Amino acid sequence: MTTATYDRTDRTASDCRAWVKDRIKPEQIEKYLDNGKCFIDPDAIERALTTNTNPEPQRVREILTKSLSVETLSPDETACLIHVQDPELLAEMRQTAAQVKTKVYDNRIVTFAPLYLGNLCVNNCAYCGFRHSNTAEQRRVLGLDEVRKETEVLAGQIGHKRLIVVYGEHPATDVNYIASTLGAIGDVKVKTRRGWGQIRRCNVNAAPMPVEELRLLNEVGIGTFQVFQETYHRPTYERLHPAGTIKGNYLWRLYAMHRAMEAGIDDVGIGPLFGLYDWRFEVMAVLYHAIELEARFGIGPHTISFPRIEPAHNTPFTQNPQYRVRDDEFKKLITVIRLAVPYTGMIVTARENAQLRREVLPLGCTQTDASSKIGIGGYADLANEDQQGDRQQFMLGDTRSLDTVVCELAEAGYITSFCTAGYRCGRTGQKIMGLLRSGQEGRFCKLNAVITFREWLDDFGSDETIAVGEKVIAQEIEQIRTRMPEVFEQFMRYYEKTKAGNRDLYF
Ligand code: SAM
Ligand code: SF4
Repeated sequence: MTTATYDRTDRTASDCRAWVKDRIKPEQIEKYLDNGKCFIDPDAIERALTTNTNPEPQRVREILTKSLSVETLSPDETACLIHVQDPELLAEMRQTAAQVKTKVYDNRIVTFAPLYLGNLCVNNCAYCGFRHSNTAEQRRVLGLDEVRKETEVLAGQIGHKRLIVVYGEHPATDVNYIASTLGAIGDVKVKTRRGWGQIRRCNVNAAPMPVEELRLLNEVGIGTFQVFQETYHRPTYERLHPAGTIKGNYLWRLYAMHRAMEAGIDDVGIGPLFGLYDWRFEVMAVLYHAIELEARFGIGPHTISFPRIEPAHNTPFTQNPQYRVRDDEFKKLITVIRLAVPYTGMIVTARENAQLRREVLPLGCTQTDASSKIGIGGYADLANEDQQGDRQQFMLGDTRSLDTVVCELAEAGYITSFCTAGYRCGRTGQKIMGLLRSGQEGRFCKLNAVITFREWLDDFGSDETIAVGEKVIAQEIEQIRTRMPEVFEQFMRYYEKTKAGNRDLYF
């Protein structure tokens, strides 16, 4: 352990109490309430769920047509889809979900890796291995040198360009720490086989913050700001997140993204943690969250995640949660989210096993992780192949390498995109919403996907992956030639330059 690590973990209990006391700013919640009420109305959700059972096939097909036009569905329409049982109609839903995904995102899958920087936490979420009362967890916060070492492996050996950086909620990993670590990650540049590797986009999964801190993050520059509500069902939320902790405040979390938008972060990721309450309620609620953000800010969620509870070390709650979501329900909820919020990115993570990931990707997912390690310091500790339960938040279902996943995706006809151009060119927020809805986003992304895939194959691909990947590239180039003749010449110049070892060229 470095000195920096020791200093950071060595906060006294009274330091923590003082920090916790003033975190929540009630005025930053109240200003968004509507006559004292929040945008989640459990009665309205239950009403929609009980009045839309047994939908007529004709009605379901009309709803599917609406999804295909990339329009957000209403709560009643979404409730109808949730209740579909007929196998034929379910197959049509899955088919339409795949069509919607292709219309908006083509055959691209974006990959990223999670990077956990600290597991100290002042909260006590019943389902999380990092919770304060879990004395079996080995605590650690990485110093900046250690952060650089993790990044060198991710960017220089595995080949990731995008990270989701994850932090517990603790004064040792406060917003200043987050900002410094983002700087340290961005500074790392590593020589590779044919060029150089660098992390080009850092998404952040951290606790809700006050507007002032979010402004700082916006200035430093982040990709997506991700906060999961865990459960939108308030009594369940309050049972699993003890009162008196920061996380115990349901509304502080519910309005995290409103504050992010106010601070200028217009790229936000939301989602429930499935398994805490009835999945049907959570799907309806996440739709309400998207509708609220669209109505208030003109920008919906850039991504929706749908993590399921995984077993965590010394965390009895995770052994047999009452609302565990079965695999068939999981596939259905992914299909419904894709149809209900057609423009949004959808993330399936390595929490799920390889076979299930294969099955759910075609239902409309756009992003996935690979080569993931969620133990603190897990990437630099390469000698250690096994997952270490007492250093990580939960156990992963799929630990396959990025190369294996990229190869499998290419065999299935997907192109893995390492593109990070969107937010660097200002294609975020309302701009990206418009491009996604009109199917225009694909124009830039298709070009950038091919260029970044070429980079990755040349720098990191195994012989087998290069062979399969080049077939996909050939098809993509042909499509660009016929569908986008006006940019073809310039695209080919970038492509050839990339082959010659130039890096980070994008449209
Ligand atoms: N501490 C911050 C927070 O709670 O928002 C961010 C980091 S927390 C480690 C990230 C997410 O991990 C949580 O929002 C929760 O949804 C998820 N999580 C916690 N325990 C989990 C478990 N046992 N299985 C799967 N996901 C879990
Ligand atoms: Fe802390 Fe987040 Fe885990 Fe809750 S989910 S214990 S807030 S790290």
